[in-house]
Amino acid sequence: MLKVLKFGGSSLADADQFRKVAAIVKADPANRFVVASAPGKRFPEDVKVTDLLLECYQLARAKKPIDEPFGKIETRFREIIADLGLNLSLESEFATIRLVIKNRAGRDYVASRGEYLNSMILAEYLGYAFLDAEDSIFFTEEGVLDLARTDSSLEVLLSEAGRAVIPGFYGSMPNGTIRTFSRGGSDISGSIVARAAKADLYENWTDVSGMLMADPRVVSNPEPIPCITYRELRELSYMGASVMHEEAIFPVREAGIPINIRNTNCPEAPGTMILSSGENAPAPNHVITGIAGKVGFSAIYIEKALMNGQKGFGRRVLQVLEEHQISFEHLPSGIDTMTVVVETAALKPELDAVLAALKKAVDPDHIAVHDDLALLAVVGRGMVRSEGTAFRVFRALAEAKVNVRMIDQGSSELNIIVGIDAAHYAKALDAVYREFVK
Ligand code: ASP
Repeated sequence: MLKVLKFGGSSLADADQFRKVAAIVKADPANRFVVASAPGKRFPEDVKVTDLLLECYQLARAKKPIDEPFGKIETRFREIIADLGLNLSLESEFATIRLVIKNRAGRDYVASRGEYLNSMILAEYLGYAFLDAEDSIFFTEEGVLDLARTDSSLEVLLSEAGRAVIPGFYGSMPNGTIRTFSRGGSDISGSIVARAAKADLYENWTDVSGMLMADPRVVSNPEPIPCITYRELRELSYMGASVMHEEAIFPVREAGIPINIRNTNCPEAPGTMILSSGENAPAPNHVITGIAGKVGFSAIYIEKALMNGQKGFGRRVLQVLEEHQISFEHLPSGIDTMTVVVETAALKPELDAVLAALKKAVDPDHIAVHDDLALLAVVGRGMVRSEGTAFRVFRALAEAKVNVRMIDQGSSELNIIVGIDAAHYAKALDAVYREFVK
């Protein structure tokens, strides 16, 4: 058994959190590789070290002194080291980083230093080797992850190290400069390390006990999701349920490595298990695995008599959107009607141009835009080929007096997506949840 553990910023925010992390890591000899984030918030108003670093970067660019934010960063690391009683000094690292930032280092280099320093401390505390991501995670010339190169070099480095801490969030470009993933990207690093190590499990340690079946800000006390498949997770996270960086799924998914979302502050909770397929997943507790949703959509409604007989009608409509850099979410259509659901924020600035272009492209009998649409995704592997789920979703919505404006069921039968008035969003989410979870 071999496990890779990734700890997020709040799990490594101060010495007390480091102690919890060490207890978790040391509890099982299978815990060989640890990926660390930069120190996160210790309390709600606190500032993440990554944000302090980015402030330094902005100041340096504006040729202003960085002492204030940089001093805060040094203090945070010094406090952790002192509080843990470590025989480690990062003073020369601080001096180098300070100088490089002043000399106008690149943004990604600056942003990555929180992970770099924190991982050095954690490696020392655990007695593990420190393996710099700069030497083991590689990007291509275009700035995308070079998975093949990373996999082969990382696999060797990890097996040589035996037990190691690897900083999350960054790697290097072919010319050796540092490149980071987007914010929250240590999740991706963890996934990459798990893949290269051929781990049996990727544990992603955060500050919540896994995923919940619905947004707790909308539904009171939603049940946790004990087990979810990658596909279900993708559907829910696309619709706004966030527990991990979206791109973190792909490296381990391909390798068939399960992910376990765990809580550093409550290690006894089993968290959420994310599995590659439904076959090895236990039967779900409920027909649905979860519900997520988003507001802020618009529907472009196009009507044209005898549309169904026209060749290329849909293509011309979508081409107009493409030319205006707008991606579409859903495309429900009728015999003489076609509706394109898009994000309002993307459509708004282009609205007049898009409408004019559509009129020119397809000469519609009628065209209109309806705003204030919310989308609700009801997701569950238990729904596949089981009767009555759609009926229950719509009954719940009808009983809550929510008017359904659009329906879309993925061909996988894994999800039912309904478009409703944004004003009814909370009511609808709650009603569907209560229908399935009594
Ligand atoms: N420290 C980085 C951030 O705040 C990356 C991470 O924590 O995953 O976004």
